[in-house]
Amino acid sequence: MKQNKTVIILITFIVVAICSLFIFNYVVDKNNQVQTDQVVPLVVENKCLKGVYIDEYQMCGEEIGRSVEDRPIYSFKVGDGPIKLLFVGGLHTGKEQNTVDLAEAMLDYYASSTKSIPEVVSMYFVPTLNVDGVANNTHTNANNINLNRNWGTDNWKTDVYHPSSGIVEGGGGIAPYSEPETLSLYNHIQSLHPDLVVVWHSKAGTVEDSDVEAADEIGGLYATAAEYKQIDEWMAYEVTGDFVTDMGEEGVVAMEVELETREIEFERNLKGIEAVFDYFENN
Ligand SMILES: [Zn+2]
Repeated sequence: MKQNKTVIILITFIVVAICSLFIFNYVVDKNNQVQTDQVVPLVVENKCLKGVYIDEYQMCGEEIGRSVEDRPIYSFKVGDGPIKLLFVGGLHTGKEQNTVDLAEAMLDYYASSTKSIPEVVSMYFVPTLNVDGVANNTHTNANNINLNRNWGTDNWKTDVYHPSSGIVEGGGGIAPYSEPETLSLYNHIQSLHPDLVVVWHSKAGTVEDSDVEAADEIGGLYATAAEYKQIDEWMAYEVTGDFVTDMGEEGVVAMEVELETREIEFERNLKGIEAVFDYFENN
């Protein structure tokens, strides 16, 4: 009896083992099939393993959101290291169009010269945040909101001030991140976890860092190399709900680089970026 029982248990075990093997193989095949089905059309149709091919830029990118007028906002990646540096142009447009032109020129430069990027670094570019502002030649977005007054800082206010326009009622949006452009960049930063974010503006010729450890040092290196003035805080007038303050409150290393003119100042910012590279290669 005892022997029979042992044999039955043994046979049951072998049958279960063989069945499991079949099921496992089937699942693996099925998964491979699914993956293959997903990858092949992307490669064939868009020539991109990840993201989509964007004709305007002639490279693969990711759509991170859409503007008030439903224009796509793109992020591009060049380099493949673990340290992520994000560069943003056109948070303000109109007179600050040079920041879009600079971001595009930098993206173009590093995309065609990936050897210039240290092995430890990946560069991400959002060349134009305020895509409607470029289309309409305005400083603000299509809702007339200032995209550098719409961030969730402790001091966010709906009414904002700018020397060129005075007090603008509702110029900070109805709430922090009420604007799709601000929210798109905020979400992109939340999912990317960049080691540094650089946002370009013009034209004060200054570098202001977020109040996070390392930001002061990296900001100083950029400012020195690019020959801009490093400042602790914007003292000229009250600024509420701005990007760099919000990044500080979120613990993100970031800097607002104000170009000195309405030109793109490519060489100066190239030197600034190279100083940032040196920092991350040695830390
Ligand atoms: Zn600006």
